[in-house]
Parts: sequence; C-alpha cells; structure tokens
Amino acid sequence: MDLKHLLIWSNSNYKDLPWRRSRTLYKTLVSEIMLQQTTVSTVVNHFDRFIEAYPNFESLAATTEEEICMAWKGLGYYRRARNLRLAAIDIAARNSRVPTKHEELKEIHGIGDYTASALIAIGRNKPALALDANLERVISRLYMIKEPKGLKLQKKIQELYKSGFVFPHLEKSGPRAVNEALMDLGRVFCQANKTDCNLCPLKKNCQAYQMGAVEKFPVVIEKKKESFDLELVRFVVKRGKKILAYKKSKKQWLAGQLEIPTYVLKTSDPKMKQYPKLGGELNLKGLKKFKTGITKYKITNYIYEVELKEFEKLVGNKAEYCFVENNVETENFSTATLKTIAKA
Ligand code: SF4
Repeated sequence: MDLKHLLIWSNSNYKDLPWRRSRTLYKTLVSEIMLQQTTVSTVVNHFDRFIEAYPNFESLAATTEEEICMAWKGLGYYRRARNLRLAAIDIAARNSRVPTKHEELKEIHGIGDYTASALIAIGRNKPALALDANLERVISRLYMIKEPKGLKLQKKIQELYKSGFVFPHLEKSGPRAVNEALMDLGRVFCQANKTDCNLCPLKKNCQAYQMGAVEKFPVVIEKKKESFDLELVRFVVKRGKKILAYKKSKKQWLAGQLEIPTYVLKTSDPKMKQYPKLGGELNLKGLKKFKTGITKYKITNYIYEVELKEFEKLVGNKAEYCFVENNVETENFSTATLKTIAKA
C-alpha cells in the first residue's frame, strides 16, 4: 500500500497539533489518555494548559487526586485523570524511565493494550499499531476484514499486522507518522457514519471503496442498548457566600468531585444506587429544570432552592453535607452542580 499521499496530507494539515510539536514520552502519554473518548478540538483547548501545570512525570506524580481532577475540567471521564496520575506515580518511581516493551508497559497502572502500543508507535516511533476506534475502522475498510467490531476485530488486525499482511512497510514509512495519519484519516474522511472517499488519499488502496462496500465495514453486531429515565432533584442551600455540598465517594459517579445534595425523585432503573431516594413528596410545579445524560441514564434535573431548615425537614440532618465556598473557580464542583448553580 502506498502511504505517501496519506502522510503528505496528514503532515501538511495536522503536524501543528500541540502534542505533535515537541515530542516526549510524557506528552504522548498525556495526549493519548486525553484523546480517548474526547475530541481533538477539546484536547487542543486543554493540552498546553495541562502541560504547563504538570510538565513531567514527577510533577504529575506529586499532585493530589483532587488537583488533577480540577486540571482535567472540561475533558470529562475523570477516571482517566486519576489513572494518568497513578501511571505517573508508577513511572516516577522508576526514575521516570518508561519501559520499552509492550508487556512491561502494561504493568504500569492504567496502561492497557492501546496506550502501550501508542507509547511504542507514537512516543518512540517504533513499529506497532495503536488500534484506537479510528484505526480499527479505517483498517477494517482498507482490507475488508470481516471480524465484528471490538476485541475480535482488534485481535485479527494485530494478527494480520504481525504476519505482514497489514501495513508490511510500517517501519520504513515511519510508525509514528503512519499511526497518526490513520487517526487523522479516520477522524476526517473515514468516520463511522460518514465517509468522504472521493477526497481520501487512500481511496485507490481501499478494498471496501473499490468494491462499493464501505458501509459494510466494520461489521457491527447490534446490541440492544439499555436506557433508563432518571429524575433528580438538586437542592441549592446557601449560607452567605457558601453552599451546601458533599464530596462524591469512590463508588459514585464523578468520584472526588463536589456535588450539591441530590436525590432521586423517580427512575425506571430499580437498581439505581448513585443517589438516595427522596423520602417525602415535593411540589415540582414551576421549578427550573435541565437535562443531562450519563452512561445509560437520561436525566431530568430539577433545581430546588431552599433554606437549610426546610431542607433538613425534608431529608434530615446528614453528616456528609457541609458548607463550602460557592466559588466555581476554586472548588471542584461536578458539571451538573455547576449547571445548577448557573441556572438557580
Ligand atoms: S476510501 Fe473511504 S472507506 Fe476507504 S479508507 Fe478512504 S474514506 Fe475510508
């Protein structure tokens, strides 16, 4: 497969992404973790600021979980921030030497197959395929690989790569450049639900395009998605410049962040345990509300501004609640809490 046009296209359009400017293994690790489940444009807005605050493994290892979650604001999926910190602690304990081998990399906290391959291919420019969703999709189309999307497809691609069928000249073409260019291609021309094959620099090599079968790859086995409705009431209880809140525990969504007291009014999920159920009745008429979503829940959030006394009459006096500064700049409030404060 001739990758020349692909590499020229990627290099002329995307070489200036912040994490591609001055490479280090540290920056590669940070950017790869950020880019998982977050768009390039969002990461562009946060990467430089994060690197300025935490320029290397040591500084990241020395931070607290709370601080890193604050610095991660806007990127979502906070578990990645906590794992990144733990990975930095592991690596700093090894004198900041990043292992070179795939299996050794996976011994580091939070580093799985994908991140290990990315550190090798993108960080070190050594032969490996960092199979994120983009590469998986693009390669399944280029070579018309019929295994269903997910682990089976990834395993098959890695097998075909090792046997020399997929990208036999990866090392010669530059593993870093090829991996990144394929990611760019998947993001720009070869999206999951939309392709611009006419503009694609690999159209001549793409078997699915040549056979008119693009929409058949990757093969997707439809799973029935569970979805639940959830109605929450979010209590806004103020005292001067402070607001009543609690810190989310490790078992809860958004662990470590601050949330205002939140109770379940109604849900179609009998197993919902993230928030306590509100004991009494509440008159919802005229209350402001907004919609959010998390995992399989479609959430309607009602905002209830109330005096402390009335709040305690409704839910009792709970030890986990305390007044914190009502300051969105300094306090690590959850996004839903921030929305509630803004709308109250
Ligand atoms: S030709 Fe179309 S399907 Fe094939 S890699 Fe390019 S954009 Fe994807």
